[in-house]
Amino acid sequence: MAVTKTKRDYPLDRIRNIGIIAHIDAGKTTTTERILFYTGKTYKIGNIDEGTTTTDWMEQEKERGITIVSAAITASWTAKSGPFQDQEMRINLIDTPGHVDFTVEVERSLRVLDGGVIVLDAASGVQSQTETVWRQANKYHVPLIAFANKMDVVGADFLGTIQSARDRLGANAIAYNLPIGAETSFKGVVDLLGNDEKGAFAIVWEQSGSDFDPSGSKFNITDIPEDMKIAVEEHRNKLIEEICATDEVLLEQFLNGKKIAVNDLKLALRKAVIAEKIVPVMAGSSLRNKGVQPMLDNVVNFLPSPQDLPEIKGLDPKTQEEKIFQNVKDAPLGALAFKIQVDPHVGRLTYVRVYSGILKSGSYLYNSTKDVKERVGRVLLMHANDREEIDEAFAGEIIAVVGLKDTVTGDTLCDDSNPIVLESITFAEPVISLAIEPKTKSDQEKLAYSLQRLGEEDPTFRVKSNPETGQTIISGMGELHLEIIVDRMKREFKVEANIGEPQVAYRETIQKEARGEGKYIRQTGGRGQYGHCLLRIEPLPRGQGREFVSEVVGGAIPREFIPAIEKGVIEKEDTGMLAGFPVTDIKVAVYDGSYHDVDSSEIAFKIAGSLGLSEAAKEADMILLEPIMKVEVTTPEEFMGDLIGDLSSKRAQILGTEKRHNSSVINALVPLAELGGYITAIRSMSQGRASAYIEPSHYESVPSNITQKIVASSGFTGRVEH
Ligand code: GDP
Repeated sequence: MAVTKTKRDYPLDRIRNIGIIAHIDAGKTTTTERILFYTGKTYKIGNIDEGTTTTDWMEQEKERGITIVSAAITASWTAKSGPFQDQEMRINLIDTPGHVDFTVEVERSLRVLDGGVIVLDAASGVQSQTETVWRQANKYHVPLIAFANKMDVVGADFLGTIQSARDRLGANAIAYNLPIGAETSFKGVVDLLGNDEKGAFAIVWEQSGSDFDPSGSKFNITDIPEDMKIAVEEHRNKLIEEICATDEVLLEQFLNGKKIAVNDLKLALRKAVIAEKIVPVMAGSSLRNKGVQPMLDNVVNFLPSPQDLPEIKGLDPKTQEEKIFQNVKDAPLGALAFKIQVDPHVGRLTYVRVYSGILKSGSYLYNSTKDVKERVGRVLLMHANDREEIDEAFAGEIIAVVGLKDTVTGDTLCDDSNPIVLESITFAEPVISLAIEPKTKSDQEKLAYSLQRLGEEDPTFRVKSNPETGQTIISGMGELHLEIIVDRMKREFKVEANIGEPQVAYRETIQKEARGEGKYIRQTGGRGQYGHCLLRIEPLPRGQGREFVSEVVGGAIPREFIPAIEKGVIEKEDTGMLAGFPVTDIKVAVYDGSYHDVDSSEIAFKIAGSLGLSEAAKEADMILLEPIMKVEVTTPEEFMGDLIGDLSSKRAQILGTEKRHNSSVINALVPLAELGGYITAIRSMSQGRASAYIEPSHYESVPSNITQKIVASSGFTGRVEH
């Protein structure tokens, strides 16, 4: 791969850091491919169905046709209209994954984006995962524009798709253009605002022989078809009215019946999109090469530049006081590592978003999260099929850095003379795990190495070893997530191993308040041991996790031994007391105890802490909690009965059913324990026509008959033990 070396200072307002987000299969990969093609960085249009796309780097992704790893790609685009007309813009496209098992990847990429394009399937409208990614985008205040893709497929309904965005997302979604034709006759769009001279106009794409023939991307500006004139008039007025409603000056002009310049409307719409007040929706079909170029113009026109961001906030690592850096290159350096990727050509790449200041190649950086110094090797702009080496990256840029050793996803990079820690990225807890048993000693070593490397790239999976069985346990966000890790481990790192069945990650918790005494006293001969504490435990609301407090007064236990008690408590909480699963939603308070001047030690108090928790737990009605998944099954009507019957046998709570265009949708909450192999099962029940979307929802208590079985197979006695 070619590396070119350039030095260029890019004005901040000409940068767009964006991501494409969507429900799986809506066309995110195809749309990304087309963007890379039109922005001139790939020369052959990739075909997802043949597995040749540019952003899907890894073998597995090609085979499965899904995008797992987010890579940042730098491209350029010159808009043909709007406030940035004829200026060369830099678009950094952060690839977000399309499968829910990797929701955390979506979150992590959203954290570093300034704006996004939400791709909707015009035949299905808003789907379940669309809701999830929408909520995530809202959480990080990422402004969005929408692209109603697949206008060429049977059942495509542009206005219906907009209505579903309004109903299901609560978004102020408004038609920005209107499709000309639909299904097989879809051939272009009417640009509703158009220009000052003509008002609205039509954009019609030339028919090409094949979807992968770039000549299909040529378009002509023409007059609006006669039969659309009334609809165009109506939607144009509606769009203008909505835009004016967000801007006082324009509103007054509008109410006074004055003609408003198109550019002023676009500037106001830009403000409204950035303030998350309006989501303009555009029609298109990425596969048929229609509608993507105007969408790119609107990425430039309506999505924010890094300059539109307020300043960045963080904490001073020493004083823990709030620190604010301005979003400019003259400010001190503040950057966030958001992705580690091992690249076959250059080794370990750290993807970094620079928020303030300048990141220079060859310089030393301070990783304030880890408190270590790091040396920057090369700084790269990653294009779709080459990379460009740059000397410095300025505030607002997204780049890849070669040479960082200790930095992982979520770490802050800054200057040690003016340190800051930016808010890190939060990861969801894993809900499923499986055991790996390496075949030989050398596999054992390769396994450890591969898991370390994979863990650097993907902080959502956890590794634990069980010293008794020699097994390694990995946990992740779903069956597919673990499958892919195991696959990479075998394929890339050549580990030979026996792989266990996926196991649900249960939790333990308590149902009522209880007290327990922990005493560890050995005073026969030599130096003795003396640790003694009284603990009170209380249930916390679901999802609160763990808490430990000391209420010891008057020095009943010297302060230096309290952390030792906490350590003992945490160790016991980690190993579990009912069936060997970690304990959660529990508050532990140490409220009294005693000590011995000579015999007391940290180790004695640690053991006492552990014992005290076991004692208290005996009286606290321990139960198991299990992950409950949100399941959305989409199926032709004829299989509804069978699929609902099947779900009912799986302890599912059916939330409802609805008709969506040509198919029926079942919404349900189902325990993860019942969902092993579910996707394959429903395919065979429906002649391959039903599909399901599954994501973690919450934890709930396990019915007692099932608890008994789990306890029996866990090797624990079921009684709360020491
Ligand atoms: P992703 O899962 O969101 O990345 O979706 P893909 O880009 O992989 O697209 C899913 C499927 O829909 C693939 O088979 C695409 O060829 C197809 N597809 C994508 N865009 C369109 C479109 O505009 N029209 C039609 N007919 N099919 C499309």
